[in-house]
Amino acid sequence: MRRRGFGQVSREAPVTAADVAVVGGGFTGAVFAIHLSRLAGRPLDIVIVEPRERPGRGVAYDTDDPDHRLNAPLQIHFVYPDAPDHLPGWYAERGGPEAVDPEAMGPDGTLYPRRGEFGRYVEEQLRSHMAGNASGSAIRHIRARALSARRNAAGYRLDLSGGQTLSARLVVVAAGYARPRPPPPFAGAVSGHPGFVADPWDTHRLGNIPADASVLVLGMSQTASDAIAVLLRNGHTGPITAVARRGLRPRPKPETAAGLPPDIVDRIRRPVSLFTAAHGRHGTALSLLRTLRAGVRRAEASGGDWFGPFGDLRDSVWDVWPALPLAEKRRFLRHLRVWYDAHRFQLPPQVEVRIAGAEAAGQLSFEAAFCESAARDGDALSVTLRRRGSEERRAERFGAVMNCTGPDLRPDRSDNPLIASLAARGYAAAHPTGIGFAVDAECRAVGAGGQPDPHLRIVGPLTYGAFADQQGAPFIALRLCAILPGIAAALQR
Ligand SMILES: Cc1cc2nc3c(=O)[nH]c(=O)nc-3n(C[C@H](O)[C@H](O)[C@H](O)COP(=O)(O)OP(=O)(O)OC[C@H]3O[C@@H](n4cnc5c(N)ncnc54)[C@H](O)[C@@H]3O)c2cc1C
Repeated sequence: MRRRGFGQVSREAPVTAADVAVVGGGFTGAVFAIHLSRLAGRPLDIVIVEPRERPGRGVAYDTDDPDHRLNAPLQIHFVYPDAPDHLPGWYAERGGPEAVDPEAMGPDGTLYPRRGEFGRYVEEQLRSHMAGNASGSAIRHIRARALSARRNAAGYRLDLSGGQTLSARLVVVAAGYARPRPPPPFAGAVSGHPGFVADPWDTHRLGNIPADASVLVLGMSQTASDAIAVLLRNGHTGPITAVARRGLRPRPKPETAAGLPPDIVDRIRRPVSLFTAAHGRHGTALSLLRTLRAGVRRAEASGGDWFGPFGDLRDSVWDVWPALPLAEKRRFLRHLRVWYDAHRFQLPPQVEVRIAGAEAAGQLSFEAAFCESAARDGDALSVTLRRRGSEERRAERFGAVMNCTGPDLRPDRSDNPLIASLAARGYAAAHPTGIGFAVDAECRAVGAGGQPDPHLRIVGPLTYGAFADQQGAPFIALRLCAILPGIAAALQR
């Protein structure tokens, strides 16, 4: 392979071979490449295949919208777990909230910067490692989409958009989330209606919704809140109705839990998790729930709140989840996940305030309801809604329907051609829970043959079924840092 200077973006000539091909240059792919280049025992050719212009950002952080904020304080986001002051230092060097974003300071005195600001940080870290790194590795960004994979003598060959092919000894799939798919009543012709907003992160599209339109929001999670906050900022005056089957919204962080978060790295990097150390092992989802509830009652009796005991479980998922039998994992996903997620993911306080204001003014309402049917109705969409626990139905016309049902991680529903190709060729198999791919503890893909493949690693949110916590940035970074020494050693041979 022809060598290039560090940090060059290859656009002109096809790259044919690399030691490592990282598919997906969001947060996960960037952190993987950064740490591999720091740990490698020899100079490696590392290629990041990512269609976005700005590597390191991905779906979550490739945004310039001022209302897209981190959903947890700045301090728990990091690229380098062993340098917790690095990101706060970088932010302070840029002038801190006063210079960068005066609204970043939450009411509890912690910082909730814009997601785009964190994306800028990750991109800068990646680019600085592209320019030079401890192992002398070359990290390059190819702006392309990986379309399919095929095993070859080296490891895998990837077919990329634009007609290039890339052969690599190790392929790392860091492809993250797929856009939410339209729920069944909105699939097909309805999803093509101009009033249907398929991509809730497309702020330009949100800006085209007429200010007086009656808007239906499908979902109540952070994605929905982000989109509603943008609508309200745009001066939306029409009514907004958000619906979800169970009607569960992100629970605000209790006031008693205000202040700086505890050191998350110490809480996670331990031989036995906090929850298991305190309560022993649990074989069922129900006994986990009961233990958690008992902990919350004890905390509340002594003036505390649910956030502490819940945080102990959240920071122990790496240990608790893999130990649960498959049937219990499925039970959790069926009955408890929505409830768990409503406690797990908080909204940035700035967004919370805007949403509360619109709710108090009667412009925004939340309903536990289900969309039974939807049809095109001139320039609007007619939707039949059924309230939870009721047989009553009502039909309403909406000028816009925003699909905020949340990112999709099921390989069998993915419209990502690489994911489909890996599954179709049996190189990777869906996790038995159906969410993400099956991997071993080192993130080696377990394909149809049942054996972990040392040439194919799957990392980040696509490992949800295996680890259940690979969604937040700190959890992703910590797992990558745990498996990378083994990967670097294998590439040394
Ligand atoms: C809207 C949103 C907000 C979030 N906010 C926070 C937060 O505040 N704090 C937090 O800790 N976590 C947050 N998260 C969780 C977040 O997902 C993780 O922190 C992390 O960003 C996941 O990064 P990723 O690179 O794995 O995935 P993604 O961000 O999804 O990036 C995957 C990348 O892979 C690329 N890709 C996909 N398929 C291919 C292909 N075939 N070929 C080439 N490239 C491909 C995509 O273009 C994309 O850039 C948020 C998630 C979302 C969706």
